[in-house]
Amino acid sequence: MRILLIYIKLLLSTAIIIAQPLEKISVITEKGIADIPIFKREQTVYFSIKDFAEATSVNYFFNEKNRKIELKFDNFLLKITAKNPYYVITEKASGKQVIYQLPTSSYYFGNLIFIPLLLSIDPIEKAYGKQLTFSSPHKLIVGSNIPPGQINLFNDINESGLNTSFNITGLDVSERTNGTLIKVHSNKRIPSYFSSHKSGILTIIFRQVNADINKINRVNVGGLVKNVIVKNIGPDTEFKFAVGEEYSTNEVMNEDGTNDIFITIHNKIFTKAEDEQRTRDKWDFDVIVIDAGHGGKDPGAIGINNIKEKDINLKAALKLGELIKKNMRDVKVVYTRSTDKFVDLHKRGKIANEHNGKLFISIHCNSTKKKPSEANGIEVYLLRPGRTKEAISIAERENSVIEYEDDPGRYEKLTDENFILVSMAHSSYMKYSESFANMLNLQFKHNTKLKARGVKQAGFYVLVGASMPSVLIESGFISNKKDSKYLKSSTDQQQLAEAMFGAIKEYRLYYKKQMEAEL
Ligand SMILES: [Zn+2]
Repeated sequence: MRILLIYIKLLLSTAIIIAQPLEKISVITEKGIADIPIFKREQTVYFSIKDFAEATSVNYFFNEKNRKIELKFDNFLLKITAKNPYYVITEKASGKQVIYQLPTSSYYFGNLIFIPLLLSIDPIEKAYGKQLTFSSPHKLIVGSNIPPGQINLFNDINESGLNTSFNITGLDVSERTNGTLIKVHSNKRIPSYFSSHKSGILTIIFRQVNADINKINRVNVGGLVKNVIVKNIGPDTEFKFAVGEEYSTNEVMNEDGTNDIFITIHNKIFTKAEDEQRTRDKWDFDVIVIDAGHGGKDPGAIGINNIKEKDINLKAALKLGELIKKNMRDVKVVYTRSTDKFVDLHKRGKIANEHNGKLFISIHCNSTKKKPSEANGIEVYLLRPGRTKEAISIAERENSVIEYEDDPGRYEKLTDENFILVSMAHSSYMKYSESFANMLNLQFKHNTKLKARGVKQAGFYVLVGASMPSVLIESGFISNKKDSKYLKSSTDQQQLAEAMFGAIKEYRLYYKKQMEAEL
């Protein structure tokens, strides 16, 4: 858990670098050398286009109010707008225009427009009619004239007058503990995608986008990805990843707020040690961790008649534990708390990991603000970035317990990207968590008087820490009259615990079968 959280912090600290002018580059022309300001962001060098015009003695008009600059080259005008990915080039003689779309926008600060250096060389060369050479680390050389015949500015534009560059511009592949993370950089929202896996090839098709295949096919792969081949097929792009034998499942998802796509490729859960017996012992289904939500100074939700969530959770947890102890004598039960005491969220996962748990069950109760209210029934949650409004609000409520903790800063805001990485650490267990969640849901449906509301996903901190298949149960609404009566009744709670135990019995068989098949 601690490693994961440090990791989240590292990620956050690298993600929130505020752009600042750092250095300069020298623009070298026939007439001399002039330094112009640049800054670097995510390995991309941006430079001030106004300073570039001054350094090259090109006339320009800078509209500070509208944050637009127009460079007046001999034959072309180049118009660039701050915080915008489009460059407009107009041929002076004909008035014909071409619009370049860059994969990234320009920046604006200190009353200057900064444009990405390498990506801008081609359009500036064409508008300028001179060759530009960027020689690392700090030199931009303005070379000889490009013969006019070689500037084919209007050849490759489409009907809209847009010189479309590629939508998918790159790919990062990185290896993680439980799999491989691929980030697909796109400057256009990808309207739909689908994936399939067959004979060691994971195929993902992105609809209605094109990719810079020459660049992407040269990307260094790693982890579970042995090779990647990208093709533009009609209006779509097809990625074929050759994945290793350790491949188990994959997930494709949008990153909120950008057009980028994450693909996570997960390892198999059971990995062989050198000694077969030791491998089997390691994966034996021998410890179940039961986590009664809240406790002590944290009452959890308050239901009707001031019923406290923490009390219901604890009673249900202890009842479930008793059933396991009595009927599965070879399985050890570990409680994160067995009394009414406060336990930090991160410690709950730590306890589970230290005891080598094979299954983590966090027991909670649901509630609505309005009391009493109609909402009722049991939900089973998996750890995934919360997508629905409802899932987010439940996760917020359950996560709000950290206010009671000594160091709330420990839980940095789980942004989507971080969450994907964290839940990816869980993803090799996801198949198991999912199977168990489905078994629970069916048990609740058939063997309790409560309504089974199904399996859902949300971002619960408590599940982040446990490195094992894990679920969180919202066992009914204490804000609902019928549910709260059920949850308070010892007999009914026994029924609930028995339903959970029924799912554990099923899961144990399933788990053993999987282990036999995979080891
Ligand atoms: Zn709770």
